[in-house]
Amino acid sequence: MAASAVEIHQFGCLSDNFGVLIHDPGTGTTIAVDVPDDQAYQRVLDETGWQLSHILITHHHWDHVQGLGKLKTATDARVIGPERSRNKITGLDQTVEDDDDVLAGPFEIKAIATPGHTLDQISWYIPSLKFAHTGDTLFSLGCGRVFEGDMEMMWASLVKLKHRLPGGTAIYCGHEYTAANARFALTIEPDNPDLQARASAVDALRAKGEPTLPTTMAAEMATNPFLRADQPSVKAALGMADKSDADVFAEIRTRKDNA
Ligand SMILES: [Zn+2]
Repeated sequence: MAASAVEIHQFGCLSDNFGVLIHDPGTGTTIAVDVPDDQAYQRVLDETGWQLSHILITHHHWDHVQGLGKLKTATDARVIGPERSRNKITGLDQTVEDDDDVLAGPFEIKAIATPGHTLDQISWYIPSLKFAHTGDTLFSLGCGRVFEGDMEMMWASLVKLKHRLPGGTAIYCGHEYTAANARFALTIEPDNPDLQARASAVDALRAKGEPTLPTTMAAEMATNPFLRADQPSVKAALGMADKSDADVFAEIRTRKDNA
């Protein structure tokens, strides 16, 4: 008899954050990614009967860690997060740097440092599940604002994700921003048919009150303007045919900041 399938449960937290739980029925391993709201997590754990074993943290911002202390106390889960925020995040049991591997039950989890939004940002990748959580670095049709790093750093992080994550990887992230991101993306690539189709699909999901995440790396490569700053068609559309990829990314990010 085949082992029961791993379950991945995503749910809304706060106004537009996500909570994510990964549960392996075979071992009981249950992993949370970020804790915007401990009560939202506790409700799901109560409903499912899952026992939280691990918490992965993407970065130090309050809307990703504010429920961490209470959830850790309630569950005694092991907390793993960025070494760079060892002194900013209370409750870390283990810290990681770029390219570190973490074992959680049956899962081998890869830490991919993707600084830019914050300097500590870690994207978590589980190859065996074709799962990645990109925190506030890569969003569906968007990317995080560049607060602590600079534009070149953020572009390098997005390029890293493009190289590391196969097209079939399911992408989970910190926020439901896709509808606004789609409207902006269409100002950069109004004639991209894949983007037009996705924008319609996103509107239909939001009209039903449904989440637009997860997305896939392949869908993002075809439609996310922030990943496409190296495309000749995007450069030409912006009148930046002779500019560097990072310069074009910076122009797109700046336009979004001012949109
Ligand atoms: Zn953030």
